[in-house]
Amino acid sequence: MIETLKIFLIIVIVILLIIGIYFLTKSKSTAKYRDFVLNYSIALREIKAINKEYNFYNIPNCNMSNSYDNEDNYNNISPKDYLTYQLVSSKDKIYDAMDKTFDNNHLYNQYIKEIGKKCVFNRFDTDITLRNKEELLRIEKKIVSQHIRKVVTDFKITVNIYLTNLTGFCRDSKSATFNDDEIMDLMAAVERKNGDYYLDDDVWQSICSVERGKVSNKMRFEIFERDGYRCKKCGSRDNLEIDHIIPISKGGKSTYDNLQTLCHNCNYNKGSDTIYY
Ligand SMILES: [Zn+2]
Repeated sequence: MIETLKIFLIIVIVILLIIGIYFLTKSKSTAKYRDFVLNYSIALREIKAINKEYNFYNIPNCNMSNSYDNEDNYNNISPKDYLTYQLVSSKDKIYDAMDKTFDNNHLYNQYIKEIGKKCVFNRFDTDITLRNKEELLRIEKKIVSQHIRKVVTDFKITVNIYLTNLTGFCRDSKSATFNDDEIMDLMAAVERKNGDYYLDDDVWQSICSVERGKVSNKMRFEIFERDGYRCKKCGSRDNLEIDHIIPISKGGKSTYDNLQTLCHNCNYNKGSDTIYY
């Protein structure tokens, strides 16, 4: 029994040794081929020269995220609404990033073509030859491909929307990614505006719902507290709501000085008039 165990152990050790020696030789020869490529590869020299000629833009990150502590607001606002709202104010920045990406894309095609033309593999600036041609080609291709620049060539915006509780703990989230065509369509819709109003009803509804969604639960409590938990018009303590003094539909913002406490009836009767109580 003991004898069998000994034999078994010896076999295992021998196998491990063989594996060890195999990997040691392999890594040694890999290092040798690697050095050879680094020193003598003409393709590698070419790509380094090409890299120096090309200047690509760094594209600023245009992704967006926003969080809501009010579940109704969260449910009412889609990533598309949020992007539409942001396009109204960040249009120029996004146009600029899109233009740069477009330029990058154009230049990158040239860059790749030039690499294809000039980086011919398996040409070395030396008389030394290595035995394993396949291994040499594999390593040369790998090293050259590591030198190909990573460039942003297609424009996308990802919008993340979070639902949090009052302490900021995330309860739910939704996300969508928009490509350049979708963004251009939204931009065009945003620009079809007339004064303070937007002719495109979808765009206008998106803008209003995001503006309404800025009234967080935290803000609601603060406004109620400021107004003494009473309707500013009739003094009722029941069915209290937050009213935009200048309505959102007339360009009012969700800021403390534009918000007041009204009961449901007074809010309903006020309609879309601008009345301070
Ligand atoms: Zn009232």
